[in-house]
Amino acid sequence: MSKTTQAKVVIIGSGPAGYTAAIYAARAMLDPILIQGVQPGGQLTITTDVENYPGFADVIQGPWLMEQMQKQAAHVGTQVVTDHVNKVDLARRPFRLECDSGHIYFADTLILATGAQARWLDLPSEQKFRGYGVSACATCDGFFYRGKEVLVIGGGNTAVEEALFLTNFASKVTVVHRRDSFRAERILQERLYQNPKISVLWHTVLQDVGGDENPFKVKAAVLRNVKTGEITERPIDGIFIAIGHSPASELVGGQVEMKHSGYIKTAPHSTATSVPGVFAAGDVADDIYRQAVTAAGLGCIAALEAEKFLAAHGEAEPRLAAE
Ligand code: NAP
Repeated sequence: MSKTTQAKVVIIGSGPAGYTAAIYAARAMLDPILIQGVQPGGQLTITTDVENYPGFADVIQGPWLMEQMQKQAAHVGTQVVTDHVNKVDLARRPFRLECDSGHIYFADTLILATGAQARWLDLPSEQKFRGYGVSACATCDGFFYRGKEVLVIGGGNTAVEEALFLTNFASKVTVVHRRDSFRAERILQERLYQNPKISVLWHTVLQDVGGDENPFKVKAAVLRNVKTGEITERPIDGIFIAIGHSPASELVGGQVEMKHSGYIKTAPHSTATSVPGVFAAGDVADDIYRQAVTAAGLGCIAALEAEKFLAAHGEAEPRLAAE
């Protein structure tokens, strides 16, 4: 027989949305359970400097911020569980969640805060050399490129931040962008233009990755100018893909309404999903702002809405005996 637990509020995900939801639900005496997932702390644990989270005059570190959020959530009474939910059944309340450990949770209300993960170009060569010179995380892998030359693909905040971070190690960083202007914040762009180690290739895309197979090692990037069609091969040691993120919503695929892009649909000015009692907060549902602080705000709203829902509908019949 599986181990089972029923809770008034279960939160899946441990980024700013998940922990903020947990803090508010715990302080509303709802005894929330938060299931962390495979990357406890979420995307901020693979970033470094955080300068735009309010409340800190000095630059803080992403992993430190997430540690503080986790401690605060636990301190106010959240049960933080290190496990990964692999299956959910939202057909009726309480909702049933199955974890990798075999533990089954029944949730009177559920807050989905599973976030998003880095997108790939999906070139066969990119996948072949993933981990051998192709990466989507400068913070994780930048250290391996001391004195080497690297490319960063993309033109948003992530690409510019990764390029700046990589100058701590690499001798030369080239940002490859498909248009002729960045969508990154102006302040980041200014820093990039002022950094003598960084140059930019506009109107250019990565077409292929070349390298050795024994052992696997990136050696070159095949680049295409999208305006002229010209193809060039450039010797390179590492390629960082920074072209945005996809929502981690597969877990509830077919059970809650989603947009074409895979982001979970929520009611206007609300975190309510198409399933009563299920709320979605943070990057899994927000395809516009995607900031740590907006995720935290949405997590707060989700907890307040779960509290209201429980007050209106009461707790669900226990399903523990059925397992
Ligand atoms: P993003 O803003 O969506 O930017 C993705 C970039 O990749 C765009 O420049 C896009 O080009 C390019 N791109 C997308 N698909 C491509 C493809 N197939 N081939 C070549 N280029 C491609 O993603 P992000 O930079 O990861 O940022 C995501 C969100 O997180 C944003 O809201 C951002 O503000 C936020 N964020 C904030 C911070 C911060 O505040 N410090 C740090 C990181 C991220 P186009 O420009 O041509 O579309």
